[in-house]
Amino acid sequence: MLMNRSIQTILLRRGPCRSHLRFNSTKKNNTEQENNGDNDKSVSKRDDDTHIQQFKIKQTTSKSAPAPMGSNGVEQLLRKNNKPYIPKFKHQRVTFEYPELPNEDQYNNLSNKPKRISRWTRYIPKILTVVGVAWAAYTIKVWYWDDPEEGQDSNELLDPNEFHKFIVTHKEQIDDDHYMIELKSKYDRWEYSFATNPDKKCLWDGDRIWSVEVKQPDINVVRSYTPLPMYYMKSEYTRSGEKKPLLRILNPEADDLDKNGTMCLYVKRYKQGEVSRYITDREIGDELELRGPTIEYKFPYHPLKKIHQRPIFKDLPSKVEPDNLIESIKRDSDLPAVDNLDFFAAGTGIAPILQVLFSKNPYLGHVTIHYSAQKPGEIGILSRFLLFLNKLDRVSIHYHYDSDPSTMLTSKEIQPPSKPNYYSPKKLDEATANLSPQEALNVRMQVMQQNEASMKSEKVKKLVQSSSERGERYETALEQAIATASRPKTPAALAIVCGPDGYVEHVSGAKDLVHKAQGPVTGLLGEKKWDNSNVYKL
Ligand SMILES: Cc1cc2nc3c(=O)[nH]c(=O)nc-3n(C[C@H](O)[C@H](O)[C@H](O)COP(=O)(O)OP(=O)(O)OC[C@H]3O[C@@H](n4cnc5c(N)ncnc54)[C@H](O)[C@@H]3O)c2cc1C
Repeated sequence: MLMNRSIQTILLRRGPCRSHLRFNSTKKNNTEQENNGDNDKSVSKRDDDTHIQQFKIKQTTSKSAPAPMGSNGVEQLLRKNNKPYIPKFKHQRVTFEYPELPNEDQYNNLSNKPKRISRWTRYIPKILTVVGVAWAAYTIKVWYWDDPEEGQDSNELLDPNEFHKFIVTHKEQIDDDHYMIELKSKYDRWEYSFATNPDKKCLWDGDRIWSVEVKQPDINVVRSYTPLPMYYMKSEYTRSGEKKPLLRILNPEADDLDKNGTMCLYVKRYKQGEVSRYITDREIGDELELRGPTIEYKFPYHPLKKIHQRPIFKDLPSKVEPDNLIESIKRDSDLPAVDNLDFFAAGTGIAPILQVLFSKNPYLGHVTIHYSAQKPGEIGILSRFLLFLNKLDRVSIHYHYDSDPSTMLTSKEIQPPSKPNYYSPKKLDEATANLSPQEALNVRMQVMQQNEASMKSEKVKKLVQSSSERGERYETALEQAIATASRPKTPAALAIVCGPDGYVEHVSGAKDLVHKAQGPVTGLLGEKKWDNSNVYKL
């Protein structure tokens, strides 16, 4: 019974069928159904007919009888809808859109979290880019570019602690064993600091003797050599019309940056010599590594040097300026002359005194050079410059050749030392060490008077302005030399010896190589009463 009721309810809910499901339906009902049918126009007529045809309800005997349970009713309802598909007009179509994905899931909760952007966040990509570019540049530099060479970034032309590269720019073979090698600095960074203070940075100062160490890189051995302030003028025509490079003296006052760090080495090639063979085997364009400068000797202090410098030596004596001030300064300031010097050289040992005489601020005293060599011609063109120095009355030169025994150096040609004209405090201590107290006092009194005189240097500056006080004036250095050459020279108070060990031993006694000391003065100089206070062995 219950089941029947529910079926009735279902059937009744289907609007258009309502009348058909009523059992014992009346005409009135039929009229209602018609009216309802008119209202429900959405159902097709055919549909109605089908339903009507299908619902063949058996007439019951009683209106209150239950609905028959045959297969016509429920089964019919449950059967598949066979309603044919009738496309509707477009405007009648119902469209559906997929709903958006729920954004409240775990992932979206995480990813859609509002980001906190700090002030710096926006710069991070830029910073990372800059770091990346810098790193890439550094990598390229390290892997693809060579490391800077030793000395490449140096502010000095030469450094005593590291080797700097130089290029061989000219090589002249003087004879079988002797060469002039012109070198030029490979790098130029040093030039910037040099240009700011050329006077201080200039290496060429005649107040000292200095050397450089040249490296033989294959066996890592170094030897000392004495650079000369000289260069080769490459495009000069000689008198005979040949285009032959000419050796010239560097002029630090006129040549920019000392000709870009140019210097010459005068080298003797020894057959078994490791470094001399290496140097003389270099060709133009090859490199040499130099370390220095090493000060080998500094001339004793003299107050005159503070207020006066001798004009620089040039290629030709006619180009050299006269030294008109020297005599008036000495006279007016009561300053003694700078001591004269005896220089004993053998072979390439001549290089140190040439360095001093060709540099600016050349030695102020007169220099007597005793040059010993195996045969004439070993110094090549350098002998011409020695001749010019002689013409300027700056040097006297004596040649001694092994090939001509009559010229051999003997003690006869050596004069005993004279007393120094001026005692520096150090020299004074040395000089008075072996004197009696009275003699030492006399020497000290004499020195005090000299020092007082040197204090007048301010007065000197005033006096030299006055033409009447200046004394004799010369137009050229040659003219001055002619006048002074005839005056006798005071014997030297200082002697320097430079050459092979055997030569040094012969002239002044051997150096104490074990203790790296001078050793006692014996030999030719010892015979003439020279001693350690006035002899220096290079
Ligand atoms: C301060 C200083 C400045 C110098 N300046 C110069 C310079 O301007 N020009 C220059 O050419 N040299 C100069 N020398 C000498 C130079 O340093 C070397 O000693 C020389 O070039 C030989 O070196 P090497 O390596 O070729 O010979 P090494 O390999 O040292 O010696 C090889 C052979 O040569 C012989 N030998 C080496 N040196 C001499 C020598 N001086 N005399 C005789 N036999 C020798 C040795 O007996 C040895 O058998 C200077 C030395 C000093 C200390």
